[in-house]
Formats: sequence, structure tokens, C-alpha cells
Amino acid sequence: MIYSSTRDSSNKTTALKGILKGIADDGGLFVPDEFPQLTMDEFENFALHTYPEIAADILSRFIDIEYDELLELTTQAYDSYDTIKVAPVAKITDTQYIMELWHGPTLAFKDMALQMLPRLMSKALERENGKKVLILTATSGDTGKAALEGFKDVPNTGIVVFYPNDGVSDMQRLQMTTQPGSNVHICAVNGNFDDAQTGVKRLFTDPEFNKQIEAAGYSLSSANSINLGRLIPQIVYYVHAYSRLIKKEAIQPGDKVNIVVPTGNFGNILAAYYAKRMGMPVNKLICASNSNNILTDFFSTGEYYADREFFKTISPSMDILISSNLERFLYELAGRNSDTVRDWMTDLSEGKEFAVDPDMVDAMGEEFYADFCDDIATQAEILKMLEDHGYLIDTHTAVACSVYDDYKETTGDETVTLIASTANAFKFPQDVYESISGGRIEDPFEAAKGISEETGKAIPPQILGLYDMPVRFTDVAEKEDMGAVVLKALEAFNE
Ligand SMILES: *Cc1c(COP(=O)(O)O)cnc(C)c1O
Repeated sequence: MIYSSTRDSSNKTTALKGILKGIADDGGLFVPDEFPQLTMDEFENFALHTYPEIAADILSRFIDIEYDELLELTTQAYDSYDTIKVAPVAKITDTQYIMELWHGPTLAFKDMALQMLPRLMSKALERENGKKVLILTATSGDTGKAALEGFKDVPNTGIVVFYPNDGVSDMQRLQMTTQPGSNVHICAVNGNFDDAQTGVKRLFTDPEFNKQIEAAGYSLSSANSINLGRLIPQIVYYVHAYSRLIKKEAIQPGDKVNIVVPTGNFGNILAAYYAKRMGMPVNKLICASNSNNILTDFFSTGEYYADREFFKTISPSMDILISSNLERFLYELAGRNSDTVRDWMTDLSEGKEFAVDPDMVDAMGEEFYADFCDDIATQAEILKMLEDHGYLIDTHTAVACSVYDDYKETTGDETVTLIASTANAFKFPQDVYESISGGRIEDPFEAAKGISEETGKAIPPQILGLYDMPVRFTDVAEKEDMGAVVLKALEAFNE
């Protein structure tokens, strides 16, 4: 498969090269030149196969690696999942199903891709050059931990994660600072998430720093959600879920389904859109946002207006104003005209807004329905799902469920619907506890205990284990010193 940049379609690459690069030199994102097609026979056949088998099949259509070799990688990647099923589909009602995407090592859906990405990168390194790869990441929470778990002890890779000293939750900090592995380093940065993010971006473009990294035998790469190696593995769980609905006889082969996704950077829902383009029968893709509702406005007006207030919500992984992966959908919307996309992106970076043509707004409306809910509705939804269905959800999944309730009421649509559940509820214990009990416990472990007592559900071992795990990383750096932190970490990796 050949891939093109969204900002210059004559700029081509292969999947493995694209995975190593992360982003195109022109600033664009790599997109496949065509969508491989799945027949309904294939969907029915997938109902008889395991998750790693389906994953190897889908990946083999996008990446130049043989099926058998991929199957080894997917089997390893999803072996670390703590249940027999990788991405179970839970039945809530006859028409409402939830894809549980958080059974991986860090209890967030990001594991689905970040358990695969390092393995794909290792393969790419074997094929493309002999260098080792160094992953630099700034995180506001979930990505850092999921990337650390994915890359820990992977041969020929190292990873350094920076997080804002006062910008992550207690549980998220502990998850990172206790991280095992001989090729990992974690460091707090004095400042907020933007400071950490800007610091990392600066390192990527600093020639002197890059020279030093190269001298140490490494090349730089990133693990954020615009990397093809994160996008492609995310298509798999939609195909898998559709095959499971067939198996459960919830649908007949060929029946359309709705897909609801709690959205931040637009990576997860974009994978659903790609699954649709590959032949999965989809009625509406429902894009659910929190109070940072820039996408809701964009889908209704065609104007993307980023110069607006930023809200800190109880679904922090969706607190985003620039949804990077939207660019890949814009490329399709523009009829794959990279000049148009480049103009929109220039408008966005220079004037903080861009607008698509009015006729494109109708075209978007055919594919997507977008809406949002605030923190109060999010908390009410957590309580409602527990009371009505005995089903515990986290703050992000609750945004999706709440938007879906409104969608159903507004449209009367009875189409069978898959809702993406993106995190385990115990990852956000204080807010989930408050939602179901009305009281507030500030200590995260006490709050987790509270949820367990209220619901009878066990605290996951990934959370319980943090309680007495030794903290390995206590460094706090100034923004200016991030490069020195990385170089020092490399010395330790090489020992
Ligand atoms: C990252 C994340 C999201 C948003 O996913 P995108 O692909 O960025 O849209 C939603 N929920 C949780 C729990 C996340 O970690």
C-alpha cells in the first residue's frame, strides 16, 4: 500500500517508512491511497476468528508484512491483555452495545494501538535502517503510560516521557513514575502541558540535539495519535465488533450499525470512518464531545473556530481544541485535493480558524452526527447506566452514552448501535465515585475503594498494584533542560 501526505499528494511513502517518520516533511499526515475492500463473506468469516487473527488480516492489507509474521506480532501484542477477550462487546439493550476497549495493561483504549506500534516500529527498523529509535512524548495523561507499557524493553527502542508537574491526576502520575523497564525514562516539567509539548516539539527540530541523538545511534520518532502505526490497529476493533454482532445474532450480515465515539484528537472515530470506507455497513458515525465542543460546531456549520475558551473537564483526555486527525477526514472531504487541505491548515495555524465549502457541510452530515455534553450530564449518565443496567462506565464513555441518548431521542433511530468505551472507570476514581454516590473522596485509592463498595466491582490489579510499587522517577526539569534530560537517559539505556 502506498500512502500520500494530506498536504502534498505527490509526497508518497510506504507504511513502514511512514510509521518511522510519524509526520510528513510538509507537515501533513500520511493517508492510504486506497481503502482495501472487505466483503460481507469476510465479515461473517471473521466471526469465527480470534482478535489477533482478525488484526493480522486487516493489518496485512495496509502494511507490507506477511500475514504469518503479523500474526506473531498481534498475538504478542494482545497477549498482555488480562482477559480471554481482547475487546469484548457488552450488550446493554437489544439495540445498544458497548465495545470495551480498555482491557489492556493501562486500562485505556490507547493500549489497543500502543501495544502494536512498538512492534511495527521494530520491524520497520529491521527493514529500513540499522538505527535504534528514540520515542519522545509529552503527555497530559493516558498516552504517556500506554506508550511506556508498549515500548518497555522492546529491542532497539528507548522512550522518554515528559509530563507537566502540576497537570496530571495522582493516579496518572503514579502509573508513570513507577514504570518498570530498562529503556524508559520519565521526567516532570515545571509548567503546564503546553510547556512540555512545546519543549518536545522544539527538540524535534533542534539540529544540534538531533546530531547528538544520531551520534548515540538513535533516530527520533513519536508515538502520538497521528502516527499511522496507531491509526491502522484501531480499525481492527470496529471490524471485530461487527463480526461479534453477527455472531450474537444482534444483526444480520449487511445490516447497518451506528458507531458512537467519545472524541478528542479524532483518531478513534477516524478509524471507524476508515472501517466504513472498507465496507463495514455504517449508518451514522456519532462524534461525542465534552464542553470543548469545537467538533460539534464544525460539523453543524463547516467552520472550525479554535480561538475559544478552553475548559478543564472530568473527561480530560478529550480536552482538546485542535483535533489533529480531522485533517485525514478533511482530505477525503476535499476529494483528496491536498492543495485545499493545505490552505485550510494554513488558515488554522495563521488565523486560528478555517471554513469548508457549504456543500461540504451536507456531505459531512451524511457521514457524521456530532453533539456534546457537559460535566453535569456526564455524571448523571454514569449514575443512570449503573442504576438502569448495572453497568459501570468512566467519564469519557459517559460522554458518548449521554450524546447517544440525546441522538436517539431526537431522531427516533432504532439502528443497532456500538458505543466505544475508552477507559476503565477506576482510572478516574474521584469523579466516578462522586457520580454514583453524590459524595467526594479526594484520595484516589480511597475513592477506588468507594466505587468498589458501591458497585461490588473489584478494583483492577493495574490500579491496586500501584499502591505499593516503588517510585523510580522523581526528576523535575526546567523546560530549557529537557534536551539534557534525554541525553542523560540515553547513557543509562546504553549501559
Ligand atoms: C485519548 C482518549 C480519548 C479520545 O480519543 P481520540 O482518538 O483522541 O479522539 C477518549 N477517551 C479516552 C479515555 C482517551 O484516553
